[in-house]
Amino acid sequence: MTKTKENKKRNRRIRVYVNNWRNRRFVQVLSDQVALQVTMPGCSHCVTCQARVQQLDVTVAQKAHIIHQWKTRDDGAYWLFLPLKNNQDPLQLLRDVLDVKIER
Ligand SMILES: [Zn+2]
Repeated sequence: MTKTKENKKRNRRIRVYVNNWRNRRFVQVLSDQVALQVTMPGCSHCVTCQARVQQLDVTVAQKAHIIHQWKTRDDGAYWLFLPLKNNQDPLQLLRDVLDVKIER
């Protein structure tokens, strides 16, 4: 497989359930990162979304070797980005690093 095809395969969205969160979220798989949509689109600071962000931020901060980035994307949601290696399963990586339950 060429590198371009590999990257295309990687560039996709997966709809998931996270823990007991009421609304489903998207996971975005990029060539060398995976991102989890943590807040609801357009809802940046309700108490519930704030608690989600806080929970994941504390968890990821305890794993000092994990580089992470928070970004607001075009959908208006706040996303958490983690580095993803070629051989890693994106959903499993999120489960392992963020200590969350993620199901399709
Ligand atoms: Zn919210």
